[in-house]
Amino acid sequence: MLRSRELMNYIFVTGGVISGLGKGTTAAALGRLLVARGFRVTAIKIDPYLNIDAGTMNPFEHGEVFVMDDGGEVDLDLGTYERFLDVNLSREHNITTGKIYQAVISKERDGVYLGKTVQIIPHITNEIKMRIVATAESSGADIAIVELGGTVGDIESMPFLEAVRQLSMEMGGRNGHRQCLFMHTTLVPEVGSVGEQKTKPTQHSVRELRAIGIDPDLIIARAEREIDPDIKRKISLFCNVPVEAVVSAPNLPSIYGLPMLLEEQHVAEYVLRKLDMAAGRPEMGSWQEFYQKLQHPKYFVDVAIVGKYTELADAYISHIEAFHHVGAATECRVNTRFIESEDIEKRGADKLLSESDAILVPGGFGSRGIEGKIGAAGYAREKNKPYLGVCLGFQCAVIEYARNVLGMENANSTEFDPDTPHPVIDLLPEQRGVSEKGGTMRLGAHKVILEPGSKTATLYAATSIYERHRHRFEINPELISDLTSKDLRFAGKSEDGRRMETAELLTNDYFIGSQFHPEFKSRPARPSPLHLGLIRAALKQKYGVM
Ligand code: GLN
Repeated sequence: MLRSRELMNYIFVTGGVISGLGKGTTAAALGRLLVARGFRVTAIKIDPYLNIDAGTMNPFEHGEVFVMDDGGEVDLDLGTYERFLDVNLSREHNITTGKIYQAVISKERDGVYLGKTVQIIPHITNEIKMRIVATAESSGADIAIVELGGTVGDIESMPFLEAVRQLSMEMGGRNGHRQCLFMHTTLVPEVGSVGEQKTKPTQHSVRELRAIGIDPDLIIARAEREIDPDIKRKISLFCNVPVEAVVSAPNLPSIYGLPMLLEEQHVAEYVLRKLDMAAGRPEMGSWQEFYQKLQHPKYFVDVAIVGKYTELADAYISHIEAFHHVGAATECRVNTRFIESEDIEKRGADKLLSESDAILVPGGFGSRGIEGKIGAAGYAREKNKPYLGVCLGFQCAVIEYARNVLGMENANSTEFDPDTPHPVIDLLPEQRGVSEKGGTMRLGAHKVILEPGSKTATLYAATSIYERHRHRFEINPELISDLTSKDLRFAGKSEDGRRMETAELLTNDYFIGSQFHPEFKSRPARPSPLHLGLIRAALKQKYGVM
């Protein structure tokens, strides 16, 4: 394979018409096709909000907070990029307006601008450009996908659009080719009883983009169904791109089918031609196999996800994706069902959970619905239903066990009841005195030592692992001997042995909790071992297989 390596190459991704079109997923799918051709691809997500990072944002509004190895709390699109590109990114790959302004203001205070008036252009735009280039170049990639969150025309995204416009002009190219290209994702709505596809919103959003000085090279037309060839031609004519650069992106049963859909339309070939990068045929074998398995399951398992952000599936997206990865590995369609934990408090676990084959209680904060989560753990323990508790779900399982098996009446976490007589979950010592909320939890990848022969060690096929964390509370080290006096084992511990990282119940088929979040590192080819174990246990109970 031939590679033009002398220059970094950029694909800037913008969105038009409305947000939520899945431009991150489409860009990640294109990235997959480039990876499949042997290129090293990285991704940067720009979020034009003023928060420094996603860590302080409510999942109810913005979906899950994704956690990186380095502890960065970032937008969930970075999770999509990690899964599609199979890379581990860092906090620098999520650029926000908050980070940019913070840096510029602190430089101003330090006198870096030498008496100049500090302005959006050039100081803010320069900071944006510098960060994009520095992050892309330090990643060692050949191609950087840079996605601008929001929609063209939003006031907040203006400085970013201006910065990437400048970058594209300033960057050289080779052999008459540019070093970067622009991919614009728009909506093609259908109206009327015959579902006529309308191009006007696309025309308007491209016009808006061109008014800023950006000419799209590639238009991804999102629609309910395939884009009609006539409509493609119309978009090509009105938006000044060749027909081959108008990509039909209909709704798919699974996002994992997107790379194949783009490949059929020769999108990667077009992109590489534009960038003057030569490549052979893609190696899509394992991805295709993964997708085929997902589409043709032999078994069906229903998992109840008991949480409090259940109206927004994006709040638990890494868990849902982990179950897709597990589904392909086990030839099983994992149907995830959201159960509001407060409903369990009102109607009882039996009513809401008896139909499910397995139960997941994911992470969370605050006391709303906490008794419902504890109730779900108790139901799983008593009925021998496969249970996975992650972070808060792990803590809830230990609280339930302390109360109902060990007789520690009113045991609780001091997060929910500071005066509990049995504080089985307590604040991490280093958290005492911490009052700032942003970026102050125990975050990111930490080493976990697993006891040889334990269920967890068997699932990981390892006794030393790195998993990602995001928490302030932990198992109270002073109560460990009480908690392990019967059939509960803390098989996973931090390297110094002080922190309890996993728990397993010896008597149940599958009852496991982890203080860390295994969902963040789950990949199509390497599903999270704890999610895999949960589904295997459910399959064994339901079908007698595995
Ligand atoms: N609220 C709990 C803590 O801070 C659990 C956090 C989580 O589930 N991510 O420890």
